[in-house]
Amino acid sequence: MPGPGAYWIGEEEKKEVLDVLESGHVNRYGDLDDPRFKQKVLTLEKEFAQYCGAKYCVATSSGTSTLLISLNTIGVKPGDEIIIPTYTFIASFGAPIFLGAVPVLAEIDESLCIDPADIERRITPKTKAIMPVHILGNPCAMDAIMDIANKHGLPVVEDCCQACGASYHGKKVGTFGELGGYSLNIFKTITAGDGGMLITNNDEHYQRAFSMQDQGYKKQGGRLAIISPSILGLNFRINELTGAFALAQLRKLDKIIATLREKKRKFKELITGGPGYHFRTLNDPDGDCGTLLTVIFDSREKAAKVSQALGTTTVDDSGWHVYSNMDQIVRYLQSVGQPGALGDFPRTDNLLKRSINLSVGVVDAGLGSAFGIDINSTDEEIKQAADRFLHACAAS
Ligand SMILES: *Cc1c(COP(=O)(O)O)cnc(C)c1O
Repeated sequence: MPGPGAYWIGEEEKKEVLDVLESGHVNRYGDLDDPRFKQKVLTLEKEFAQYCGAKYCVATSSGTSTLLISLNTIGVKPGDEIIIPTYTFIASFGAPIFLGAVPVLAEIDESLCIDPADIERRITPKTKAIMPVHILGNPCAMDAIMDIANKHGLPVVEDCCQACGASYHGKKVGTFGELGGYSLNIFKTITAGDGGMLITNNDEHYQRAFSMQDQGYKKQGGRLAIISPSILGLNFRINELTGAFALAQLRKLDKIIATLREKKRKFKELITGGPGYHFRTLNDPDGDCGTLLTVIFDSREKAAKVSQALGTTTVDDSGWHVYSNMDQIVRYLQSVGQPGALGDFPRTDNLLKRSINLSVGVVDAGLGSAFGIDINSTDEEIKQAADRFLHACAAS
């Protein structure tokens, strides 16, 4: 039960991957004039940067590693505070925590993205960065967030893992802040099984992020070289097979987004106007990926009954996507004197208890989107899902 890219794995992926297998050259480096070296990762990085309108892209092993590398790149040190939303996947917490930093949570608003006004309230002298998360395929209110960041001189790292293909006022997410991180795991808009894409416009950030990705080396042509003074890196590389797979998916991304938006429009139209609920706010309706359709009910009771009738859950019950559901995170936050237990963020609690994520492209029980449609749903199936939803509302 994956994301839309996984539904569309086909001949194109097969061809790209076979190209690598037949050449026998499977690691991401090689001589640019060696015909056996198919340069899939290099091409992927180039095409993804172009797609996003960013200067640079570094391919990595996961979305999580893009966040870890990004935070390390801007110099996050133990004890630094990173402002993140209460509603996001556990990886957004894990990246700062593994650098010894402190996630400082901010409330979400009716877009289910971080509330810019609450970001400003959480800034302290220890704040090192703001990490907005473009949740469920729709961008954060980037104008307001960048105003606050600029006013306080704080760097922004964008978690774009759920928003591959999303834009805000015509600009792709990930290009507003210093760095942006994308995921290619199986639940995301496009996939390579796993993988990550880090983007930035900053030359120094690029060098540092690249080095962090591979043991402190720099890239020279298609190969590696030593830099001086040396820096310490780790290994978050991907290989040519992953690169080839991701390249085929990237070339389908625009069609995936267009298809999702069209199906979401139909689904939404069919359930618009019912009593007792409305849709989440979209900070930029034209920049939404269309992966999910979130309904916010007036009452918790109704949301609970409808979700039960549909065999799904309200969003507060979506596992490791909600701050208070992650006991390892709650314990960490408590150990550093930060709020993080259920009830500490009443606006988030109240909103998520009243919300249901209907799938359009991402069908994922873990995300609370076990009910809805998928990227291949026919008009008839969309109608059926809409009817089931309306019926559950009427009966609840
Ligand atoms: C999926 C996801 C990640 C992590 O991506 P991986 O590729 O699985 O490491 C990070 N942040 C958010 C918001 C995500 O949804």
